Amino acid sequence: MNIPTENHIQAVRKALMKWHDTYTRDMPWKDTKDPYLIWLSEIILQQTRVAQGRPYYVTISERYPTVDDLASADEDELLKLWQGLGYYSRARNLHSAAKAIVMEHNGIFPQDYESIISLKGVGRYTAAAIASFAYGLPYAVVDGNVKRVIARLMAIEDPIDDRAIEKRIDQLAQAFLDKSDPGTFNQAIMDLGSTVCTPRNPLCDECPIQERCVAHEKGIAYLIPVKGKKVAKSKVFMHYFVLSDETRILMNKRGNDGIWKGLYEPFLDEYDKSRPLTHSRVTSKVEEILGLKPISIKREGPIKHVLTHRQIMAYFYFINVPENDLSGRDGVYSMRELQALPLPRLIEKSFRSQGIL
Ligand code: SF4
Repeated sequence: MNIPTENHIQAVRKALMKWHDTYTRDMPWKDTKDPYLIWLSEIILQQTRVAQGRPYYVTISERYPTVDDLASADEDELLKLWQGLGYYSRARNLHSAAKAIVMEHNGIFPQDYESIISLKGVGRYTAAAIASFAYGLPYAVVDGNVKRVIARLMAIEDPIDDRAIEKRIDQLAQAFLDKSDPGTFNQAIMDLGSTVCTPRNPLCDECPIQERCVAHEKGIAYLIPVKGKKVAKSKVFMHYFVLSDETRILMNKRGNDGIWKGLYEPFLDEYDKSRPLTHSRVTSKVEEILGLKPISIKREGPIKHVLTHRQIMAYFYFINVPENDLSGRDGVYSMRELQALPLPRLIEKSFRSQGIL
């Protein structure tokens, strides 16, 4: 594997910092040094495109402008604001880390890497981003963009998701980091990856480090990064019974494990049937399990919903029941209350298509 010389490192640093001087990408979190806002933006942007994350950042930072505000937030309200972003554990971790900052650090955001990385939901990438952007500490950020740039810069032809190669890329990123201004350098290399050294068709002719890029020199930039084999997603079938009496609806809050923890969903049954349930099967199930008699049943689906490790195929059965039959049950919400409940994207999509939301 290639090892960069000191000359190579210096030349890359210089070219990248110069390029970044003239390059600006307007983002609401870019000019702040407030560690809380940097943390919030980095967590929102994990697994999320900038265009999608931006309005969430604006809304959540306005609703909770300080770590104290976030610590005292109502969890249902925070999850509702997060609705549509996915990976809800990010919001729950933000909430509990904010509480820990208030309880254990007197509401002052931790200022060293070790304390930052010990916050719930903060990994090496986020800790390096906060440490370098807010405090100018010399930690290289290594996200997907940076991995790609480094892999091409050093012509790494091994799979970049291999543990040993990941470690090597971390070391190289740290070696290239400009320790005199780590925040700007980190921003520059990430920006280069997202705008110039893009996954497909990198714009090498516009690249400030073209002359120092080994993959470009060898004519193999388009072959890098190499990725290991993808694991096939497992398929899961879900059957949702949406019970309502026109003005009220039955919803459950999901428990403390599995996906969509703390979010609300209709009654869920049958994980393994790939075919839709017949009208009479739905009727007998509703009577048997819930003790309710359907007036009408309308089916929707299957709706495909893709998560990181699995693909969900969901059927929805919209079931009307007589007006008083929902009275006295737990989990009955008015249609107005439903609007404020945090819902998984899949449920939101289906409810919107039926005009329930
Ligand atoms: Fe990426 Fe091309 Fe620049 Fe190399 S020269 S870093 S491949 S954009």
